[in-house]
Amino acid sequence: MGCACRDKLCKTRKVKVGRFSIGGSSPVSVQSMCNTDTRDLKATVDQIRRLEEAGCEIIRVAVPDMEAALNLGRIKRAISIPLVADIHFDWRLAVEAVRQGADKVRINPGNIGEKDKVREVVGACKAAGIPIRIGVNAGSLKALKDKPRTLAASTEKVRGKPRPAWKPYDWAKQMVKEALDEVRTLESLNFRDIVVSLKADDIERTVMANTLFSSKSDIPLHLGVTEAGSFLAGTVKSSLGIGLLLAQGIGDTIRVSLTEDPAMQVRAAYEILKSLGLRQYGPDLVSCPTCGRCQVNVGKVIHELEDRIYSDRNLLKKAEGLKIAVMGCVVNGPGEARSADFGIAGGKGRGIWIEKGKQMKVIKESEWVNEVIRKIRSTK
Ligand code: SF4
Repeated sequence: MGCACRDKLCKTRKVKVGRFSIGGSSPVSVQSMCNTDTRDLKATVDQIRRLEEAGCEIIRVAVPDMEAALNLGRIKRAISIPLVADIHFDWRLAVEAVRQGADKVRINPGNIGEKDKVREVVGACKAAGIPIRIGVNAGSLKALKDKPRTLAASTEKVRGKPRPAWKPYDWAKQMVKEALDEVRTLESLNFRDIVVSLKADDIERTVMANTLFSSKSDIPLHLGVTEAGSFLAGTVKSSLGIGLLLAQGIGDTIRVSLTEDPAMQVRAAYEILKSLGLRQYGPDLVSCPTCGRCQVNVGKVIHELEDRIYSDRNLLKKAEGLKIAVMGCVVNGPGEARSADFGIAGGKGRGIWIEKGKQMKVIKESEWVNEVIRKIRSTK
């Protein structure tokens, strides 16, 4: 995506991942990660197909052992979006993942070991023409392992290790330093198809690290706030972290990490991109918060509508760009619904159907959802 000035000289380099590209002037893509056991072919393929329906563009799976690596070819043949293999520690798993047809490998070269092993992985990726993502997470920095005592501020421990005395910017600098060290290792092997991610579990370090990295490199960035949390807390945190960066023109692909069904991660990712005007995804559903004037169940209607629209790829496509309003009463409803393509303003168990500001008819509350769906289907 490049920096906010949008100068073509400031764009990130473009990297191909299957039929998608990341970086340059490519649209910011949406990724997710399976939470199934990669050795379980059926569960993994079923989940990826569901995520494809939800609009996921690139999918990552964990590859914890050789059995999982050997399953990647079968998974890849059963899906239609690029498959990313997430590897830690064992270079042989990465080489096998490439042999099985993975479209990208995510490694942390720091935990792959000596340069010879990294060279094997790079050689395999180069021969296959696929990129490598260097994933740096604040919680697994090499500096934390190498010299935890010198960083200790107190006796307080994080995951059994002394908490470092760093301020957020120190963390960001260290994350960027370790990422650039890894980039240099790969580039010294004449490999340039690189994507970098710099993730922390808070907004401050994530934003600082990515901003700093983008000022130093043209390598495309995969954005995310790691271990962001439950659906509500994690979505708010991710929206702010990812949104602050995207608003500055930083970031080329995103993954929203939530302790939640990965399909909701995809939904949340698109909502972030949609809010910033970077991608279109489904309709703009407008609904009022309801108040003491409301005599219909706006919440139930809007949830049913979301469920119907977001579980049907064709409907989702048809609804793209439509503004649909569901308002609780006729006091403010018609006025608010006027700016929508169509909408409903509630009364008592019924509502006024409004199209482009014109009041068309009265329909029963029990028919609202079906009427909206019919209208979306009939939209050209
Ligand atoms: S549209 Fe009506 S019901 Fe909804 S918040 Fe406004 S006044 Fe209340």
